[in-house]
Amino acid sequence: MEAIKNYKCPCCGAPLVYKAGSETLHCDSCDNSFELATITQMTEDMESAGGASKYDWEHYEPRDYQSDGEVNLANYSCPSCGAEISGDDTLGATVCPYCGNSTIVKGQFEGGLRPDYLIPFKLDKQAAVAAFEDDFKNAPFLPDNFKSKKKIQEMAGVYVPFWMFDCDCDASIVYNAEQVTAWSDANYNYVKTDYYKLFRSGRISFANIPVDGSKKADNTYMEAVEPFDYGDAVEFSDRYLSGYLADKYDVSAEDSIERANERVKNSAVETFKATTSRYSAVIPESTKIGFSNGKIRYSLLPVWMLNIKYKDTMYKFAINGQTGKVVGQYPVDNGKKWRYFWAVAGVMYAVAAAVAYFLLF
Ligand SMILES: [Zn+2]
Ligand SMILES: [Zn+2]
Repeated sequence: MEAIKNYKCPCCGAPLVYKAGSETLHCDSCDNSFELATITQMTEDMESAGGASKYDWEHYEPRDYQSDGEVNLANYSCPSCGAEISGDDTLGATVCPYCGNSTIVKGQFEGGLRPDYLIPFKLDKQAAVAAFEDDFKNAPFLPDNFKSKKKIQEMAGVYVPFWMFDCDCDASIVYNAEQVTAWSDANYNYVKTDYYKLFRSGRISFANIPVDGSKKADNTYMEAVEPFDYGDAVEFSDRYLSGYLADKYDVSAEDSIERANERVKNSAVETFKATTSRYSAVIPESTKIGFSNGKIRYSLLPVWMLNIKYKDTMYKFAINGQTGKVVGQYPVDNGKKWRYFWAVAGVMYAVAAAVAYFLLF
């Protein structure tokens, strides 16, 4: 018997020895045997799965943007929350889409940064209002001012800046997995646990992973309002801004990379995990993720925004301007809740009385 260098027992870590005249390696410590080919493959896979994850994104060079004159643009600034937005200068009484303040200041359009592309609004204001009102079915005790037509009309269509990330992601993940089988005969119950080392590697191409590029737009809202259909994306032009506001990014591409890495990594991990579902326990041992061909583009995505105040709290709503998905939390009008409770309790009392009546007679 001769020890084979570098090959360690996958069960106990002791050195494996080659059994002359066979294609098998043996562990003297735990008495397991392994096919030589399996151990070689495993060692190679372990080595390629080791090492640090690498994220390779191109550098994004911002481009200046001046109006092409198709729409008269203005700057709007909000003295209350500090939002600086551009947009159609014919918009009348504009309410700040981020904080609901109505004393927004209109000024000269000062140019900005040119988006690479944009998804145009598919839902006009009327359709967005209808989507919002339709969502009231999820809020049975909604205070009346949420249903005020005048208030809902304050909804503003805002193109929200997003960084879009594309990349090819190569991942190798090693898992320790178990498969538990249980059975019984007349005398005993048996439990058998098989232990596996799983290797998964492959390439996933990601396109259009969005990361919110505006500090004012709440990240949780912006991620909840997804998904957008990028099939509708067009090259940016002024004319799409007619009737709308457009925010500009204040989180740079570089500062958004961390979030993009996280989103790519999570999606890759999820996709790989899905291939291990037949095992009863799966624990990742090492994860290596690398990106290549990382492209960054600046784009504007359509969101309807509305702020409604109720009892000193501003309730924010975002409606996907392409799909009509409504994101936001409704307050509960306690008065309404109690009225509803008494109505229900009243019916229950009537039923109870009727039952008592039938029992008595
Ligand atoms: Zn061993
Ligand atoms: Zn504001």
